[in-house]
Amino acid sequence: MDIIVSHWYCPHCEVAGRDHEPEPACWNCGAAAVVTARPRAEGEPPALSA
Ligand SMILES: [Zn+2]
Repeated sequence: MDIIVSHWYCPHCEVAGRDHEPEPACWNCGAAAVVTARPRAEGEPPALSA
């Protein structure tokens, strides 16, 4: 089983974080965050192409 960690960024609050949710929300304002990367925790290296 792959462990996906979404790296996200909230342009409203200028905060970033990581979440196991595929579509994370900002912990500060609660808005949908912009996912910047979604590497797998094991196996292949993260894809650099978006
Ligand atoms: Zn926010």
